Amino acid sequence: MEKLIAFDDSVTLPAVGQGTWFMGEDALRRQEEVAALQAGLDCGLTLIDTAEMYAEGGAEEVVGEALRGRRDRAFVVSKVYPWNAGEVDAVEACERSLHRLGTDRLDLYLLHWRGNVPLEETIRAMEKLQQQGKILRWGVSNFDVDDLQELLSEPGGNQCATNQVLYHLASRGIEYDLLPECQQRQMPVMAYCPLAQAGRLRQTLFTHVTLVEIAQQKGISVAQLLLAWVIRKEGIIAIPKASSQAHVRENAAALQIRLSDDELARINRAFPPPQSKQPLDVV
Ligand code: NDP
Repeated sequence: MEKLIAFDDSVTLPAVGQGTWFMGEDALRRQEEVAALQAGLDCGLTLIDTAEMYAEGGAEEVVGEALRGRRDRAFVVSKVYPWNAGEVDAVEACERSLHRLGTDRLDLYLLHWRGNVPLEETIRAMEKLQQQGKILRWGVSNFDVDDLQELLSEPGGNQCATNQVLYHLASRGIEYDLLPECQQRQMPVMAYCPLAQAGRLRQTLFTHVTLVEIAQQKGISVAQLLLAWVIRKEGIIAIPKASSQAHVRENAAALQIRLSDDELARINRAFPPPQSKQPLDVV
């Protein structure tokens, strides 16, 4: 059965979505990227994650093209630059994103990372956008435990729908404190770079003997193993970026993969969970 995540009371999503960083950079790849996102929607990877930052709006335009005639099948996430997260600027930034995406609403709008705008002001901006119907939910990204606690102590801060952070097998720091904190608050976590950027963030990941062995035994790819591992816990949605239809289908199939206790123990021996606080990893 496909792994689902209850995002909130009104939305349940497959635990794998689609990232878009580096899409929209090269006009020659545009049709391939649009086709990949559409194939993902067809496979049920309904969450599409983008940002005003990606290709300076170019990725949102690719997503917009992919969504044409399919908007209602998607859960669209975009992100605001920290320096656009003030009360007036955030509304304007969101309107620009909506225009590029060719839609009248975002399902989720995230503060991309914490900057100099006071959190209280960003919360007010998010509330205004919600009242205007331009966003249905808001959340944050790259917030460690202390930032999150500060946010939640602000008036309205407890409406934060998610925290999007880096999480892959070779970077397990959030398991020590951030993940339990979010889980206790029933706040879903969006795991970015779940494939460690195809191993670029950890060169040996895709060739690691334990992972290759387990993947071979299960008849799956190492990428699928990495995704199945990220979504093994409740409340986590992985957002791998794939610009080929073959990769998208492979990633969608990871929703069906379950890891046994023995497999998880072997993975833990090769990539031990954190025993102390680690600073939040970012790219
Ligand atoms: P990922 O870990 O998702 O890796 C992407 C790479 O993996 C691409 O090179 C892709 O290749 C490759 N890939 C995808 N599927 C497969 C597969 N089945 N087998 C082998 N290779 C595969 O890295 P990202 O940095 O893209 O992170 C995912 C998303 O998270 C981003 O796209 C973005 O939406 C979000 N993000 C958010 C950040 C934040 O600060 N909030 C920071 C970084 C990312 P190809 O494209 O050729 O298919």
